[in-house]
Amino acid sequence: MALPAPLDILRNTFGYEAFRPHQAEIVDAALTGRDVLAVMPTSAGKSICYQVPALALTARTGGITLVVSPLISLMADQVGALRQAGVAASFLNSTLGVRERADVLYGIASGALSLVYVAPERLDDPAFVETAAARGVALLAVDEAHCISQWGNDFRPSYQRIIEFLEALPARPPVMALTATATRAVRKDIVSALGLRDPFTVIASFDRPNLSFAVSRPRGGAEKDRMLVGFVRERAERSGIVYCSSRRSVEEVCELLRNEGLPATRYHAGLPAEERRRNQEDFLFDRSRVMVATNAFGMGIDKSNVSYVVHYNLPLSLENYYQEAGRAGRDGTKADCLLLYSPGDVHTAEFLLSRSEPREGLTAEQRELLAERDSERLRQMVFYATTTECLRAHILRYFGEEAPAYCGNCGNCLTDFEEVDATTDSLKVVSCVARIAQRGRAVGASMIVDVLRGSRGEKVLRRGFDRLSTYGIMADVPAARVRAILDELVFLGVLARTGGDYPTITLTPASGAFLRREAPWDGAFTLKVAKGAPHRGRVPAPPAKTRAATDVSELDAAGQELYARLSELRGNLAHEQNVPSYFIFSNATLVDMCAKRPKTSDELLAVSGVGAKKAERYGDLFLSALNG
Ligand code: ADP
Ligand code: ZN
Repeated sequence: MALPAPLDILRNTFGYEAFRPHQAEIVDAALTGRDVLAVMPTSAGKSICYQVPALALTARTGGITLVVSPLISLMADQVGALRQAGVAASFLNSTLGVRERADVLYGIASGALSLVYVAPERLDDPAFVETAAARGVALLAVDEAHCISQWGNDFRPSYQRIIEFLEALPARPPVMALTATATRAVRKDIVSALGLRDPFTVIASFDRPNLSFAVSRPRGGAEKDRMLVGFVRERAERSGIVYCSSRRSVEEVCELLRNEGLPATRYHAGLPAEERRRNQEDFLFDRSRVMVATNAFGMGIDKSNVSYVVHYNLPLSLENYYQEAGRAGRDGTKADCLLLYSPGDVHTAEFLLSRSEPREGLTAEQRELLAERDSERLRQMVFYATTTECLRAHILRYFGEEAPAYCGNCGNCLTDFEEVDATTDSLKVVSCVARIAQRGRAVGASMIVDVLRGSRGEKVLRRGFDRLSTYGIMADVPAARVRAILDELVFLGVLARTGGDYPTITLTPASGAFLRREAPWDGAFTLKVAKGAPHRGRVPAPPAKTRAATDVSELDAAGQELYARLSELRGNLAHEQNVPSYFIFSNATLVDMCAKRPKTSDELLAVSGVGAKKAERYGDLFLSALNG
């Protein structure tokens, strides 16, 4: 019998036409028995990276794939979605009773299950270890792998059990570590703490092109509330999350929205478990469109049709912000991420930091170091809230990625940018790098900016950079502008930035041609830059149209009518089975259906997100709704 190829599994079981960037390489590495470290942003599609191998490996070796995950609610969610696609999956965590647990162990032992999610706390259960060892573990995937790092922002001591578990197995399976936390220190830690062996490493771009970022700067509480209400009202038909920094603020904001007739519900750790569960379900099932919550909400919520995330208060770090904002648009459709920022918010944030839980098992020195890191992270968050530069570029650079100075799809780019001719200035920047290189020096970007602007700083003078011919030749250009030009040059490859903890700026093979203004550098060097005037920001309008139809708003009138019909059918099916509607099909899948309008079940299979199992289960119903 021919064994299923990964691409066939992706198409037949998951209904996706092609692998997304990096997925195919990761799957192949796992199938050849190699360890993997995958750093990919939220929504990049990390789950497919172990789900496809799980099915291939069960078919090939009979072994099971285990997925360690810290998030109990995520497990139920993912297993539910996998079962819809016909995958034999289950989970083991503290929510199971004795009987259920025995069922799962039997499923592992008998070979019935292909993939099991396990909470780290369960890993040292002797019955589990014995059963898994007897069946044979084909792959161990560690989700949220940054939890093993003491330097990450979510350290979980229970993750240390993974190593012991691996050691208890008669044969060590390949280990796949997955995380959306990008910093270098955490990455290094994951490799050593999990004992990864020469891992195939993927560090994906953190850009989420379908997310549009914006910051609005209300003068005070009343204006902030008005902005929020206006923003939510414009999106009354869509689901969104409003994050607040305290329980009290959740209560107030939820009340505010409800008083305005907006269907809001709330979530924070102070509510009884029963209410939390109910509210979360109301949101998942689209009964309440708006979730007002503290950051306690969302870790486990795999809702793919969240179309906006508003931060009513300042998050404590860009890591937090990007993770929370990233819960929008997971189905790839366009979504908005708005930060409402009033200057007073910094004090609240500082207060929250000062009150954060003491970290156990650390020396006083380590604790102080962590506290310093925390305030540095907050400072970076404030930079984001106040910058007039491209917000996307700001985020990507924070995560160590090169990015163009202008994305055209963020609040700042859309309101505060102008195109300038920087031909002369760009030549000055490159010459300055060349002069410093001639002296056999390599320095970072901020030093180059300092030299060009004629800084009298101690480091500049000590190295004698004030004697360079390029010293002070851009004294009249604001530092941010010089920096923007430099970043753009790096992005275009005219200059390069080295890796490492102290990146320096170097010349590239293109630098010479650029200085001589040879093709392709013979034209004007224009640049979209921030106007520089501080502004209060505008509340962005809902997403506008683009080429590929990924959002219902992009369908023509007939398409939208069709969408409404399909959406109703989906709602009924979801209701019957008591599952969230996106378990049946995501919004993106419905939009694609309305765009492609399949007539036969083969055509239906060409719709993104329709796999064999779902086609079999729901195909006839949707085809007749489409063609009826
Ligand atoms: P992550 O774990 O990286 O945050 P997920 O694994 O939850 O992301 O994937 C995000 C969404 O993208 C899910 O709805 C998933 O089904 C979808 N997805 C993943 N891979 C593909 C693919 N190759 N083609 C289309 N959609 C995909
Ligand atoms: Zn931008």
